[in-house]
Amino acid sequence: MKNVHAAAKPGDVFAAVGAFLTEHALNPEPANYALAYDVICDPNGSRGREVQALTLGGVRLSGANVVRLGGVASAVPLALVPSAPAREPAPEPNRDDALVARTLTQIVDFATTLQTIHQETNHFGRDLAETAEAIRNGGAEGGVERISRLTAAMIARVHQAETRLEQATTETAELRAALEEARTIAGTDPLTGLLNRRAFDDRFAALSPDVPVALAICDIDHFKRVNDGFGHAVGDRVLTLVAQLLEREVECTVARYGGEEFALLFERCGEDDVVARIEAARDAVVARRLRDRDSDRAIGTINFSAGVARGFAGDRLNPLMERADRALYAAKQAGRGRTIVAP
Ligand code: GH3
Ligand code: MG
Ligand code: MG
Repeated sequence: MKNVHAAAKPGDVFAAVGAFLTEHALNPEPANYALAYDVICDPNGSRGREVQALTLGGVRLSGANVVRLGGVASAVPLALVPSAPAREPAPEPNRDDALVARTLTQIVDFATTLQTIHQETNHFGRDLAETAEAIRNGGAEGGVERISRLTAAMIARVHQAETRLEQATTETAELRAALEEARTIAGTDPLTGLLNRRAFDDRFAALSPDVPVALAICDIDHFKRVNDGFGHAVGDRVLTLVAQLLEREVECTVARYGGEEFALLFERCGEDDVVARIEAARDAVVARRLRDRDSDRAIGTINFSAGVARGFAGDRLNPLMERADRALYAAKQAGRGRTIVAP
């Protein structure tokens, strides 16, 4: 059995072997793993010492050297090595999958860079200490020259590491922007551009518990008639228009909560103010004289019913929503086109 560092944890060896393979662009072949294992776990063995000599100054192992050391040189870049014959073309990765894959790759790259730097620093420190000790004992021939060589190699490696870290920092900034964009998309209703239910629930959850709130659910009246009479595409345009008018008039958090239902979240607003803002939105919707632009037929007046429940942000959302929903049902029962506040 080889003299594996007694102190090294298996995870450290595994990571260091991976870093070695990556650094020297070696395919994950058994012979390459064995070479990397030797270099990491037995640095003073013959292969360990030879690799150290060949890579002094941050030089990457050449294919010929890899073969001489018993490894397998990469004839084809790793990503191009054919895998098992494909039965069906792989599905196109979607945007989110691609973003997650990029993030994971970057995290792995970053960890590998840090590990490599850590390892190199350790080696350098140890070599330097050994040489200094030898000089002190008067036994190192050409000791100063050796220290100067070691230092030059270390400076070159630090420079490489700085370049890699700079690249990683740039990539991190790009990824942060892409993740922020993905987060916005994940919280947006694609038809109307409003927040979706998930984002609305998050906004509610983020409020401090003592904030007085009012929740309203607005449901378009007889919306099915629009779809049935003019088609789904016209229904979509009406939905988008109602969404825009609501957002413009109510001046609070507005989300598309379901098909033709919108949820409103008012913070620190008195009941009269809440009702007045919803009624202003109703006036704006009712005032529109809508026509189907293909057939030029009048669509007729659009209106909605609203149910409001008041409470505190510390209340649970579901019971508040249920109270608002019951008030909405009462508004529908009472003839639609009105707002009712839950008792
Ligand atoms: P009520 O006044 O009782 O609310 O009647 P309603 O017709 O509005 O309600 P109902 O629940 O019977 O029908 C809602 C309709 O909304 C049915 C559904 O096809 C339509 N709908 C839901 N989501 C969308 C959408 O994204 N686009 C379109 N065009 N229609 C939608
Ligand atoms: Mg509905
Ligand atoms: Mg409806």
